[in-house]
Amino acid sequence: MTEVLPGVHLIRLPLTGSPLKAINGYLLKADEGWVLVDCGWDLPDVLEALTAQVGDLGVQLGDIRTLVITHYHTDHYGLAGRLVELSRARMLMHRLDWLFIKTELADFGAAMDRLDAWLRENGAPSELLSDEQRRSVDMFSRFTVRAPDEELEDGHRIGVGRGEFRVVWTPGHTGGHICLYDPQRRVFLSGDHVLDPISPNVSLNRENLGNPLGDYLESLRKVGRLGADLVLPAHGEPFRGLSRRVDELLAHHDEREQEVLEALAHGPRNGHQVAAVLPWTRRRTPLGALALSQQRMALTETLAHLEELRSRGLARRERRDGVHCYERVGQPTETDA
Ligand SMILES: [Zn+2]
Ligand SMILES: [Zn+2]
Repeated sequence: MTEVLPGVHLIRLPLTGSPLKAINGYLLKADEGWVLVDCGWDLPDVLEALTAQVGDLGVQLGDIRTLVITHYHTDHYGLAGRLVELSRARMLMHRLDWLFIKTELADFGAAMDRLDAWLRENGAPSELLSDEQRRSVDMFSRFTVRAPDEELEDGHRIGVGRGEFRVVWTPGHTGGHICLYDPQRRVFLSGDHVLDPISPNVSLNRENLGNPLGDYLESLRKVGRLGADLVLPAHGEPFRGLSRRVDELLAHHDEREQEVLEALAHGPRNGHQVAAVLPWTRRRTPLGALALSQQRMALTETLAHLEELRSRGLARRERRDGVHCYERVGQPTETDA
C-alpha cells in the first residue's frame, strides 16, 4: 500500500538507467480532486507508472486538479507539460525556477555553449565536456517546457482536505526549490532538499552563479527549526527526524569544507584540480574512477564549496590564462618561504 498517511500516497515513478532508480511523487487528497507533487521524466514508462498507480486508488489523471513542482530538474518537472495537457491540472512552481527555465532553457544551444565555456574555465578536461553535451541533449528530450499557472513564494498555502501544506522556500539545490510542510501533522515533503542517506547535490552551475552552498546551508538550518517529524523525500524511503538529518548534513558539509581547505594548502588550484584530490562517494572513490557524469557533478559541487569559502573571505579567485584559480586566504601555503 502506498498510503504513508491518511490522504497522502507515495507514487513511485521510474528513472530508468539512473542510479537514483526512482522519484517519489506524492498524491494528496484535497476537498475536490487531488494534488500531485512532482511528476518524473516525460517518458512513456513514467506516464504508464503514474496512470497505473493512481488508477489503483480509483483516481484518474483528470482528477488531479493541482500539480506542484518542487524544482525545475527534469526528474521532477519533466512530465509537467504533458500531464497538464492530459489532466487540465493547475501547475504551481516557485517564481525563481520558472524564471530559470524561461531564461536559460529557452535557447538550448546557447545555454549549452555557455555551460561548455564555463566548465572549461574551471579546468574541465575535454572528455568531460563532450560527455556533458551528450547528457544534456538526452536530458532535454525528457521534458516539455510549460509555464506554471501560478508562481509560488515562501508561505503560500495549499489546501488538502482536512489541512494544508505551507510552501517553504529552500534555495540551494536550485534557486527556486520548495518544500511543503503541514505543521499540524508535522509532515515535511522535502523534494531534493533533504534526502537520507544520500547527501543532496549542491552545485555551482554556470546558470546558478552566486553562493548556492551558502544558500543551501541556510535553508537546511531553516527547515531544521520547523520541528517536523515525518519526512517524505523525492528519492529513497520516508524517514523520521528532520532535525537529526539536517544536523548530519551540516556536519557532512563541515567535514567537506575542511577537505577543500586542505586541498588548497599547497597553493592555487582550479576547480578541477581541487576535485581531483578530494575523495568521492561514501566509499571515498578517487575522481578519475567515477563515471563522467558523476565527475561533472563532483566538479560543480567542489566549485560550490570554493565559492562558499570565497564568500566568507577564506579563499580568493583569480583568472590565470583563462582559467579560474582559487587560493587560500590568511594561511601561509607550503610554497611560502
Ligand atoms: Zn534535483
Ligand atoms: Zn531529484
